[in-house]
Amino acid sequence: MYMIAQQTLPHVELLAIGNELLVGQVQDTNSHWLVRNLTTIGAVVRRVQLIRDEYDEIEFTFKAVFARSPRLVITTGGLGPTDDDLTARALAQTLGVSLEVNEVALEMVRQRYAYLATLRPNYSAELNEPRRKMAYFPVGARPLTNVDGAAPAIELDIDSATGKIVPCGAGNLTIVCLPGVPKEMKEIFSNSMQAVLARTIGAGGYIERNIILERGDESRIAQMLQEVQALHAGVYIKSRGQIFPDHGQRLTVVLSSGGQNLETVRTTVAVCEDELRRGLADLGYGILGIIDS
Ligand code: ATP
Ligand code: MG
Repeated sequence: MYMIAQQTLPHVELLAIGNELLVGQVQDTNSHWLVRNLTTIGAVVRRVQLIRDEYDEIEFTFKAVFARSPRLVITTGGLGPTDDDLTARALAQTLGVSLEVNEVALEMVRQRYAYLATLRPNYSAELNEPRRKMAYFPVGARPLTNVDGAAPAIELDIDSATGKIVPCGAGNLTIVCLPGVPKEMKEIFSNSMQAVLARTIGAGGYIERNIILERGDESRIAQMLQEVQALHAGVYIKSRGQIFPDHGQRLTVVLSSGGQNLETVRTTVAVCEDELRRGLADLGYGILGIIDS
């Protein structure tokens, strides 16, 4: 119902790259998973886009994303060995740098195929050109370990004032390119990417509380919600119909807030929740329960 601009929080944009996503062959579950996991640590995801495996399209989209100065950009897809995997090349082209073999990434790819060769009889660990392709990185980028697959993720920092690549950790706009395979994407996000998340998002948190009402008429509570909302710019208050396994269809009031300091978020939400409880009681509403989601 009411949208709050959380300007001070780190802003994240996501790009899911792959033709299969835009013909409905594969559903973009990566973005949903990333949105939820980023929100939980206190980030604000401003925009998510699905784009095709087309060189110009990726480059054009990167430029538009960078112009909005997000703190972190995460892409998924297009890191594999085949010619239609274009993410690294399009990123290098966007930033005006060349694509070269990254020796650390090459070693990761080498170790991956050496490991696979120990598992499979007659499997060659030779680094042929498609395999080497996964170690071609924009100059200045660094690899993040992918323990479940061959393609390392790409981490790169930019100084948004100049648009130039700077050493990882020194920029104010960080780009991470993750593989499309959901298992690999999740593993890298949860492990190899932790240092990047700590640096770009911080150790914040997110709280979502659902006030479940006995009975519901959204129009009767709208004004009261608006009044409480006006006093708490950092909390997003929304009424909506929800279905609960134990209660069936109910009207709920959802309060959510994220930020860099979880204790502050908790306190802000608690104060807001008290005001809503009083407001609902004044309007004669019984509260069935209040639960976290
Ligand atoms: P590789 O080519 O090595 O498998 P990649 O990084 O190039 O890795 P893609 O080829 O783009 O990844 O995707 C690999 C598989 O991952 C796809 O076949 C698809 O099933 C799945 N996938 C890709 N993107 C998504 C997404 N956004 N959501 C869910 N699944 C996805
Ligand atoms: Mg692909």
